[in-house]
Parts: sequence; structure tokens; C-alpha cells
Amino acid sequence: MTNRHLMYRRLMQLITAFILIVTPIGGIFRLDVPSKSFVVFGQKLWFQETYLLIVTLLFFLFVLIGVIKILGRVACGWMCPRNLMIELLEKIAPSLGVAKPKSLIHVMLRVVVQVIFAFLVGFTFFSYFFDWKVILQDVFSLTFSLPASLTLALTVLSFIDVFVFHHTFCQVACPYGLMQSILGDEKTMAIHFDSDGCIKCNACTKACFLHIDPKSEARLTCVACGDCTVACQKVTSRRGKPIPLRYRFGDNDHLTVGRFFRDLRFLFLGGIVVLLFSGLLLGVIKHQSVAIAMAPAKWSKAIAVVPGMGINNYQIYVNNGSNQVRTYRLEVTGVDPSFIFFNENPVTLSPGTDQEVRLTVKVPKGTYIENDSIPLTIRVHSSNPDDPIAEAKGIFVMPSNIP
Ligand code: SF4
Ligand code: SF4
Repeated sequence: MTNRHLMYRRLMQLITAFILIVTPIGGIFRLDVPSKSFVVFGQKLWFQETYLLIVTLLFFLFVLIGVIKILGRVACGWMCPRNLMIELLEKIAPSLGVAKPKSLIHVMLRVVVQVIFAFLVGFTFFSYFFDWKVILQDVFSLTFSLPASLTLALTVLSFIDVFVFHHTFCQVACPYGLMQSILGDEKTMAIHFDSDGCIKCNACTKACFLHIDPKSEARLTCVACGDCTVACQKVTSRRGKPIPLRYRFGDNDHLTVGRFFRDLRFLFLGGIVVLLFSGLLLGVIKHQSVAIAMAPAKWSKAIAVVPGMGINNYQIYVNNGSNQVRTYRLEVTGVDPSFIFFNENPVTLSPGTDQEVRLTVKVPKGTYIENDSIPLTIRVHSSNPDDPIAEAKGIFVMPSNIP
């Protein structure tokens, strides 16, 4: 029984860690900060499609609230990769001589194992915001780009966190734990102690990987992994009394489907999650087949001057959201067309890809008053006349002190 419980728990922890790693790498969901877009089910959507971004974030928020309200900290004990990492170090690693180092080799082994875990944390987290291939490439070529630097910084923090704080973080500072203490109620699943039938053998305390006593108030910081309930069941099951330690949903020992349909709060939460998920799917299916975004240049100074000219540089992102090759022609209105220079126009894109195009607007001195802002509109015309004409807005700022 113990082994089966632990096996299921490990399996669940590993599946969760796998899902967390694969979600951004497989393009299921991630935000792409450099191109100001986000990816949902393999479709690249733009931050301008704000409603979809909001629906996506709300969907994850309500799923999280649902998990917290129903399962409480069970998610910590059964799904949290950080706990998995610490438990593996404490419980599995002793056989490698890693958890309780006795020699320099052991210390070095422990450091190596923790560095690998810590890097996995940093890499997984930032692969939700940057291209995972860029992160790996930059880290291993020691190119300290923003994605690589942030990943390495989180790796170091995570290493210190596990090395120094162990379980203290989840007991006092974990954001999920803090949300649970706000959202959890008497119906939330938790470990329940019933002193009737307890033989004070302390098998539960010995089984706890957090080293807390589930019979005391300390169980409020427990992560509901259930290891103590299994240890307790082992010593008390033959006594014919209720097991003193067990999972409970308020006054109910079992979570049943009927309970969901009787509880208005769960019905309400479930309804919102289903609605948001449907909206998200619909949005992904119906999202624009062509999209464009405009931002100040990173490839050169955004505002510059040369003798007789004021210059603004931009980067334009064009996305082919259709499932066929498309050629796009870019057009800027707001200033004289002779002031406009693209590094490439038109651009041909494969299905589901995007490209950064560089735009320079060069305006002769005296055309506008210094520091004046001129609104620009950039439109993208597709080679397929059925595609919509997408557009983005920007501003040309007339530089001052043009020589
Ligand atoms: S008290 Fe029990 S359920 Fe809570 S963390 Fe310890 S072993 Fe797990
Ligand atoms: S394992 Fe069960 S019976 Fe033993 S001390 Fe803990 S709660 Fe009591």
C-alpha cells in the first residue's frame, strides 16, 4: 500500500513536471516576450489580440482557483516540481551518497545534482517567455543575452533556495500556499486528524518528509502528500476503528461527482472554466490569418539624427496565421512615402511563421516642428485578396538638434 501510494504520487509529480516542461517547448502555451505575442495550441497570437490574452490568463486563473478550492494543498504534495526536487534529493539520493554527504566527492555530487535541478527550474520558467532553443543555445555558448541571463539568475536563486531553505519556502512564502490560505475553506480537501483511535506510535511523524507532526496544529503547513495517512493506516487498520489520519473534504470522507453537482460554488467555477475554455478555442480557431505589430527599434537607435535628417527606426512583426504561404506588402501612411525605407518589402512567409521587418522613417530637417509627434499607420496587404488588411499604429517623433 505504502509503495503504491508513493508510486502514484511520484508518477503524478513526474507527469506534472513533464507537462510543465513540454507546455512551452511543444507550443501548447507560452508568452513570447521578444515578438510581443503568445502561443496557444501551436497558434501564434499577438498581444494586440488582447481579448484572447485576457481569456487565456483568466482560464488559467480560474483553473488554479478551482484546484485550490477543491484540492487545497494536495497539489503541493502531489504536483509541485519543487517538492519533487527536494524529495528526490532527500529520499532517493541517499543511495548515491548525495543527500548526506560524507566526503568531498559526495559534496560535489550533491552540488552537481542540485545545479541540474536548479537549471531545469530556471530553463522551464523562462521557456514560457522566450524561445527555448535560444535559451539553450545562448546558455551553452555563454552568450549573456536577456533570456540566458534571466535563466542563469533563476538557476542561481533556485540553487540557493533548495540548498539553504529546503521546505521553509513552501511553508512560509509559496504564492500557491498563500492563495490557499485565502481561498481554502472548510470543504477543501485536507489531512484530518481524529484523536479517537490514535495509539501515539508516531509512525506518521516519521513518515513526513516535511518533518511535521500531523497530529498537531503544525499540520496547517502540511502539503497533504498523504504519506502519513498511509503510515497510520498500516499501524491502525486492524483495530476496527476509523483511521485517525485521513484525507477529508470538510465533514465528508469522499469526493464524489454528485458533490460537484450539489455544490453551487463548484458548479459556478466549473461553468466559468468551461466557458473560458470554449472562448479560447473559438478565438484560436477564428483568429486573424494575418497580423502585424510595430515597436521602436532594438536593432539601432529608435530616434537618431544625421546631417539634414531626423530618423526614427522601428521593428515590424508580420505574422502569417494562415495555413498557406503568403506574400505581404507593407504600406505606411501618415508621412510622405518618399520618407519610408524597409529593409525588405514585400515579405514571403511560410504558414504559421512570422518575420521581423526593419522600418526607417527619414524626414528632412524642417518638415515638422522639433519634438512633434506624427501618427503613423502601417498596413499589411496579403497576396490572398480574401485575407483581411491588418494594421498597427505608431508615432514618428521629429528629433531635435538636427545638424
Ligand atoms: S503531515 Fe502528512 S500529509 Fe502533511 S506533508 Fe507530512 S506526511 Fe505529508
Ligand atoms: S500514525 Fe496514526 S496512530 Fe500512530 S501516532 Fe500517528 S495518527 Fe496516531
